[in-house]
Amino acid sequence: MTVTDLSGFTLTFAQADPADVDRLGGKGAGLARMSQQNLRVPPGYIIGTPACRTYLTDRRLPAGLVDEIGSRLADLEVAAGKTFGGGPVPLLLSVRSGAPISMPGMMDTVLNLGICRESAVALGRATGDSRFVADVVSRFHSMYAETVLGALDPGVGVVAVVESVTAGDDPGAVYDRVWAACEQSLADDTGDQVPADPREQLLGAVEAVFRSWNTRRARTYRDFHGIPHDLGTAVVVQSMVFGNLSDDSGSGVVFTRNPVTGEPGLFGEYLAHSQGEDVVAGVRTPDPVESALARPVLAELRSTCSTLERAQGDVLDIEFTVERSVLYLLQVRSAKRTPEAAVRIAADLVADGTAAPAAALRGVSAAQVRQVQRPGFDPAEVTAARTGGRLLTTGIGACPGQVSGTLVLDPDRAKAMADAGEPVVLARSLTSPADVHGMIAARGIVTATGGSTSHAAVVARALGTCCVVGAGELRIDTAARTLLVGRTRLAEGDPVSLDGSTGELFAGSFATATPAAASGALGRVLGMASAVSGCEVLSRVTLPADVATAREAGADGLVTAIDDVLAATGHLDGLVAHLLEAPGRGADGFERFTDLIAQELTPVLAEAGDLEIGVRAIDLVADESRELLQQTAVTTRHPELAVPLGRLGLIEAQLAGLARALAASGGAARVHLAVRHVSDPAEARLLRDTAAGSGIAVGSYLTSPRGVLAIDEIAAASEVIWLEVRSLQAAMFGLPPRLLLTTEPLDDYLRRGLLSTDPRRR
Ligand code: ADP
Ligand code: MG
Repeated sequence: MTVTDLSGFTLTFAQADPADVDRLGGKGAGLARMSQQNLRVPPGYIIGTPACRTYLTDRRLPAGLVDEIGSRLADLEVAAGKTFGGGPVPLLLSVRSGAPISMPGMMDTVLNLGICRESAVALGRATGDSRFVADVVSRFHSMYAETVLGALDPGVGVVAVVESVTAGDDPGAVYDRVWAACEQSLADDTGDQVPADPREQLLGAVEAVFRSWNTRRARTYRDFHGIPHDLGTAVVVQSMVFGNLSDDSGSGVVFTRNPVTGEPGLFGEYLAHSQGEDVVAGVRTPDPVESALARPVLAELRSTCSTLERAQGDVLDIEFTVERSVLYLLQVRSAKRTPEAAVRIAADLVADGTAAPAAALRGVSAAQVRQVQRPGFDPAEVTAARTGGRLLTTGIGACPGQVSGTLVLDPDRAKAMADAGEPVVLARSLTSPADVHGMIAARGIVTATGGSTSHAAVVARALGTCCVVGAGELRIDTAARTLLVGRTRLAEGDPVSLDGSTGELFAGSFATATPAAASGALGRVLGMASAVSGCEVLSRVTLPADVATAREAGADGLVTAIDDVLAATGHLDGLVAHLLEAPGRGADGFERFTDLIAQELTPVLAEAGDLEIGVRAIDLVADESRELLQQTAVTTRHPELAVPLGRLGLIEAQLAGLARALAASGGAARVHLAVRHVSDPAEARLLRDTAAGSGIAVGSYLTSPRGVLAIDEIAAASEVIWLEVRSLQAAMFGLPPRLLLTTEPLDDYLRRGLLSTDPRRR
């Protein structure tokens, strides 16, 4: 390789540090890595993102880059053993975009660049196939015209000329005919011209790739995904290989494992006698790699995939081209996958020794785990139901889940049917504490009125039951046992389905399944996660029955909340009003509160055995409680309830209730009471002193930035510290914490560019 004096805008695949994705872009980094692993990658170099940033500010190619492109080209000719713009073997190039963060299909790429009369003639001589030459010339012209000049697809005239060419035609004459037809078609469209000079083509394509960073679709994509606009794209300039050369050539894409199910084994498509764009264009249907590739090529692809997986510790998505039975790798990146596949793959990668647990876990997000844990509808059935008119109405999703069940309009019947083993969906105009037994029995709850902090929503969340509220179109006739939605009349006993995230209510039922991969793989992934993180996982429980479920899921400990327990057992409404307002109830007049806590928590603590259980004290300023208390205006008359220790009697009553529950349950559980919104060490100290002698430990539950700043001193006075990440995130933006649970209006805000960071992002 010749030594050249470069100003540093470019790096060859051999020189580049694959870890420097910011400079090289994902595509360039992947190519550099593969080529340094001695895998077969067509030679090339990378123009780093700084050049793009300079271009976008100055609106012209930076000084030095043009020279550097020239000297790199000379090196590339040597490396490829080919000549740019001539023979005996012509060098054609692909000029490819590649951002530091993947933006698939958003920016431009120009293939077959460097074609001119001399190179066309040489290509014809070298391959002996003028049909191939015609194909390459027309492909280049239309791709350049489209991406660099913004033209439309070439007209039918071009296709006819290309098809009239035979293999033995004179390549020079073929070039002239095809180029002329292409020029004619372009002139009709834009009046522009594609440069005939290869070097001009190269500079034009590099500029076009830079410009494609700022197209409307690219900007929209970045807004949507929260990708900064100032990164810029790298450009990969690479020697072409030709999948369209012969029948033993072709292009394909392969995933190293099935990205839908996570099953091991190559999963991909291959189209013989084609260039990569043809696979995407969908004009011809590709074949599965396993059947379409020649044996030796398939074997090499297999071993390459496993080498790459092992090196990167992840499932990969690989673009490749075969030229005359020789495999070339053109791109590698981490594969997008379904939640089900993510979990299965992470477990398998570790099991088969491809990746270490910490690396494998990077491929699974918390949201994916959550999705996999929750049984869901078959997505195809849901889509068909939407278009087939089975969607009855859409309310507000109050607690996620996807459930099918028998429609029931009355809580007593819901309980009776559920006891008989029937899955039921309880529909009510609104719910009250008198409905709670039916709500506990139901798989899903839907109400006609109420918002996301209504009784139904609060109780459903405490129970973890799928719930939709505020489905305003529902007309429930309890006497006639019918439910009217628009023109559709359903009777009690009809099957319905409910989606607690989207708020949709459907007629009929759906096949519901926990993704198959989830079962064993999820356990292994969660096990790995706790081993790697050194964290323990506490499971939220409300009813005694939840404890067994939590144990089965491998919980290291439990958390619950007094208000959730009382809401789920039907005691919350009016309770506090009654306590605070009843005549003759003074500072120590909270016996009934204590009794209820003792009564409802005894069975929970008994189930908990020797597990650690954290109990959150009742929180009268939480959104949920506020709605329940508003009707009685308690908080207006008792402003002291707005601060965590404003009514110490409430804390004492809860400590006493817990102490009694603990004793009654056999005393094995390790219990503490955590008080929310503590922000000062003095509060923590008062809490400690209040609990002294009660037999119950206390925790400070921090929800404010100030609390976090004082965390050391607060910790000194508390046995346990709880942190509410959502409240802290919300506080940074001055937003109500519950807003962070919703999609809109924050998604809309982000789309409109009014926030540079998503407040929900961890
Ligand atoms: P995208 O970012 O949209 O995936 P690429 O730069 O990967 O765009 O190019 C799209 C396709 O062009 C590739 O999948 C590949 O089939 C083809 N291609 C790119 N570079 C080359 C090359 N050097 N030789 C042959 N085909 C190429
Ligand atoms: Mg690609």
